[in-house]
Amino acid sequence: MSPKLTLPDPFASIPRHPLLYPFLFSPIHPLPSLSSSLDRARDVTRKNRHSGNNKLPAPVQVSLYVKREDHSSPLACAGNKYRKLEYIVPDILSPQPRFGAGIGGEIPAIPGSADSRSHHAGAAAAGEAETEAEEASTERRNITTLVTEGALQSNHTVQVASVAGKLGLQSVVLLHKGTGGGLRTSSDPQAFQRTGNVQVVKLLGSDVRILDPPDPSSGKKTQDDLVDEVLEALRAEGKNPYWIPSGASLHPLGGLGYARCAFEIAEQEREMELLQSSSSSSTTSTSFGHSQKASSGRFDYIFVACGSGSTLGGLIAGFKILEKTQQQVQQQTPVQKPQRRPRQIIGILTSPTQPKPYHEERILQFARQAGSMIGLDPENDITMADIRLDDRFGGTGYGVLDAETKKTLEFVAEREEVILDPVYTAKVMRGLLDWVSGGQVERDVAAAYEEGYYEEQGQGHGHVNALFIHTGGQSALGAYADI
Ligand SMILES: *Cc1c(COP(=O)(O)O)cnc(C)c1O
Repeated sequence: MSPKLTLPDPFASIPRHPLLYPFLFSPIHPLPSLSSSLDRARDVTRKNRHSGNNKLPAPVQVSLYVKREDHSSPLACAGNKYRKLEYIVPDILSPQPRFGAGIGGEIPAIPGSADSRSHHAGAAAAGEAETEAEEASTERRNITTLVTEGALQSNHTVQVASVAGKLGLQSVVLLHKGTGGGLRTSSDPQAFQRTGNVQVVKLLGSDVRILDPPDPSSGKKTQDDLVDEVLEALRAEGKNPYWIPSGASLHPLGGLGYARCAFEIAEQEREMELLQSSSSSSTTSTSFGHSQKASSGRFDYIFVACGSGSTLGGLIAGFKILEKTQQQVQQQTPVQKPQRRPRQIIGILTSPTQPKPYHEERILQFARQAGSMIGLDPENDITMADIRLDDRFGGTGYGVLDAETKKTLEFVAEREEVILDPVYTAKVMRGLLDWVSGGQVERDVAAAYEEGYYEEQGQGHGHVNALFIHTGGQSALGAYADI
């Protein structure tokens, strides 16, 4: 598959430093065995429901596919953070980085809006105290060290450490015991601090510091205080650190990677459609799934993890501008095509720590932040109606593998030879399987049908494609040896 993507302006002109495979998109492939087992599970659910309820929605066949973001990059333990980092690296390498000075705390306001605050506000204020000569000498100092943080088994820190190495920079990785992330429930807490991603980050040559929860009585009140202390110490050593917030999510450029990924998915849909139509004369089943009836190569549903929600927010923004651009083209053509329902992007919340409205608000902000940079009118083009978040599968804690999620991880490994991760993707898959076998996709399609979508498919025999985004993270598995 060709890696060339055509992005609309101004998106196309935003600098990006390639970290993914140069000649390949991350692959998309079908999950035929899961798809057919879901057909059966759904039939059973329908039968059971039918006894009490005669108004069941029409049956919908769902073909499952996966996008292998865990195979997106030659760098260590590929996962979703490399895409985010592609848009952050140009700032790191710039002689005058705009971001990265320190803790921002909040999602930065949309550039140009009335209350936009620079991430650099603190540093700029500190800089005023310096003499002009000093300022001139620090201005052009290159970044020496990437600093980031995460929970003990953070995948993000692996990807930052690996990017640092690739760029010839040092990295300091702060792993917070206080974030939990499976430490407390681990049957072997000592091993949890040495294995999995902790081991990988060390292998990558990073300076790994495992931090105890901050002790309020010591005056260090928050994890942010601990981070500030590390940044200050590095500066005192003459280094020039660049701070990347947890998950690269609060970084203002962090959402762009998945906005671009939306265009990649659309291009892959097009290639799949071409392949499918060229093989449709054959009577045997194609390599694209458990049935030939797939409506098109388009992914009607996309299921993705919501940790911080910046991957989800980026995808929402990307598909928005993609669909807006296509709509404009369609309006110029005289033939009125049947209305296509926009792709439904469903976020599955992977932790019960914060309530759903908290995340919905953040996702909206992430999507608007990315949207404002790629040419959308953020307030009008992206609304709460675009945010679809399911909070039923977060389990018992962030990084805690509950019994149901564990079963899903084992099931998918046995059925498809695909290994999920215990913190994010196994929960997403559990949600996706439930959406299909529990009839939620059918109800959703039926509701959309009422709204006038899906005309071209005729009543009763819908067929939709659902794409599961595998965001990586398997390198944490070693720390979850009980699986
Ligand atoms: C970080 C991570 C996520 C969550 O991404 P967000 O953008 O924070 O929502 C999902 N899956 C894996 C494997 C991750 O490492």
